Order: sequence, then C-alpha cells, then structure tokens
Amino acid sequence: MPSRVSLIVVAAGRGARLGAATPKQYLACAGKPLICHALEALAAARSYCAATVVIHPDDRALYQSALAFLSPAATATFGPPAIGGDSRQQSVRAGLEAQSDAAPDVVLIHDAARIFPSLALVERAVAAAERYGAAAPGAPLSDTVKQIDAEGRVVATPDRSLLRAAQTPQAFRFPLILDAHRRAAAAGVDGLTDDAAVAAWAGHETYVFDGDPANVKVTTMDDLSAAEARLFDAAADIRIGQGFDVHAFAAGDHVWLGGLRIPHERSLAGYSDADVCLHALADALYGALGDGDIGAHFPPSDPRWRGAASSIFLSHAAGRVRTRGGVVAHLDATLICEAPKIGPHREAMRARIAEIAGIALDRVAVKATTSEGLGFAGRREGIACLAVATIRLPAR
Ligand code: MG
Repeated sequence: MPSRVSLIVVAAGRGARLGAATPKQYLACAGKPLICHALEALAAARSYCAATVVIHPDDRALYQSALAFLSPAATATFGPPAIGGDSRQQSVRAGLEAQSDAAPDVVLIHDAARIFPSLALVERAVAAAERYGAAAPGAPLSDTVKQIDAEGRVVATPDRSLLRAAQTPQAFRFPLILDAHRRAAAAGVDGLTDDAAVAAWAGHETYVFDGDPANVKVTTMDDLSAAEARLFDAAADIRIGQGFDVHAFAAGDHVWLGGLRIPHERSLAGYSDADVCLHALADALYGALGDGDIGAHFPPSDPRWRGAASSIFLSHAAGRVRTRGGVVAHLDATLICEAPKIGPHREAMRARIAEIAGIALDRVAVKATTSEGLGFAGRREGIACLAVATIRLPAR
C-alpha cells in the first residue's frame, strides 16, 4: 500500500537576515508573496493526507492575505495553519502535533523560503523516508570548506566530496520524527537548525539523498531578486500592446504632451488635458493586459475626468500591470505633428513618463515625425500619437 504522506511547511521565521520589516516569506516575489511559490510547487507535486503551514502568531493577517494569491488547487491542499513557537524546532513540533490525528506514514518538512521544490525532489524525499526512516536532501558543495577557530585561523579543510549542504523537504517516518521532537523538547534541546539533526539527536541513523542544486533558499535580497528573475524567465509571459490617439487643435496657448505643458500657438481639444501621448501609452498598456481602454476605465460621461491630468490614466494603467504581478518592461511613443517641435522636450518627456509609469528612464522612448505636410497632421489640424508597450506578467 502506498504511504500516506503529509506535509509541513515551516513559515514562522522572522527573516532577520533580509533586514525588511515584513518577514521574508511574505515579501513580494514575481507578484505574489514568496511563500505562495513554495505552496504552489508543493501542492502541484503530489497529494497529501494532511498539509499544514506553520506560521508565527504575529503573521496571521499576512498569511491570510497570502492565501488570496493561491490557485484553488493549492488553497484546497492546505488546512488551517498551525501556530509556531520561538524556535524552528518548536514550530516544526507544532506542525507535527497538529497532524498527529491524521497519523501519516511519512511526513515531508519543508522551509517556506525554498520556493523551487521540484516534483522529482518530492518523490525522492518520499522514497528516502520509506527506505531510511530519516533523510534530508543534500547538494554537493562547489566551494572548498574551511573550518576556522575564533580568530579566523584555518583548523581543517574537510574533504569536500564527503560534505553535503542540507536542504528541504526533509523526510521522515512520522512517528519517528514526532517522537524525536517530543523527546528533544522534553530534554530542553532547542537549538537544532534542521529536522535531520533532531532525528540524529534522538539516536536515529539519518541519511542524505540527492538534493537539487536549483532548490535554493531565499535568504538575502539578492536571492529574492534572483528568484524573481527565474520565475519571470520560466513564465516568459511577455506581452506587447499598442495604442493610438488623435486630438484636434483648438484655440489656446499651450499643449500637454508626454506629461509636459508646452507653450504653443494652439491647444489640443479634449475632455481631459488632451495629452495625446499619455493617452496612447495608457491604451498600449491596457492593450497588453487585455484590459479595455481609457474610455472604459475613465468614461467621458463622468464629470470627474473633465480637464483631468492625463498622468492619472497612465499611472492607472501601469498600476493595473503591477496589480497583476507584472512589470512594465518598455514604453515607446511616436508623436506625429508638424509643430510644436518635440526634440527640445524629448528628454523631459521621457523623464516624466518614466516617473508617471514608475519605471526606469532607459525603458522609455519618445520619438516624433512630421507627416510631410500630408493628412490632418500635415495640415496642422491636430496631433496623433502611436504607442507600444511591453509588459511581463508572472506565471499563473
Ligand atoms: Mg485621447
């Protein structure tokens, strides 16, 4: 009969090494809290007879909001969280106690900060627990390891081929590890940093099975950025949207273009400030999202948008990308007019557009052309703008 396998995800740490106010497992990574990536991957790997996330008592609200980012399948996998203690050992024990009624054969214990547990790794973990009773995934070390004393003097250079960096999920026969944790707690032993060490302390032979070098732990901000890049690369949901807008000239003494007020012998007519450039850019973003257009989000029938600064539209569209967990990779606008001259204002427009969209200057392009006297732009009846936006959305 196949083993009844349960899962404990330890997420009660304070993440002090990242130096952020929010514990690292709840920091945003590719559009959702870090912990969600681990939970999704584990839920997708197999089914469990019980699955418990152990959280810190201060994090109830953070965990509740993180759940909103989970797929229905992952949401259904995890039951109510267990509340952890002051140490990792206490937290794992809280998770084990919460599952004692479910009486699993095998339990996998995983750190929430490892967000890339693969299906193959999870299956190796289950097999290792069935075979050995207590086992941890281990990755070979690429660096030579030095053992030092308090002054930094090297006292030993262990044989690297016999060393492994322990990862999670660690895997155990459930009664073995529950008993080991209970005994360690009763003996006042509380500083062990992984469950293989708890099993070993309790006198069990513990084994290392093949880990996965890609199963890294997010510990620093650099790790977080690297994890995010990997998630985006894996997803590669890159989208391009286009926008187009025209406004006619009317009486006036300035135009709004690219978020700048530019003195001119005429103004552009429109319900808002008629910034044809920001309108085209906003529509390009809505287009990339498949999310309507300016008119749908800001109906001209609504008096709130009379004379509105068009920066509102562009920042709203960029915000819609971020709400979806995405990033604006690039904005490119081409203005078509005989006058005013765009060249002298180009760099200021780029800077203003970058500011409104919340992206770096080098991700914004503004170009201009005349239409050689042809058509409405050539007859100086109005200004047209073409725009393209590239966005990247995270994996679903
Ligand atoms: Mg318009």
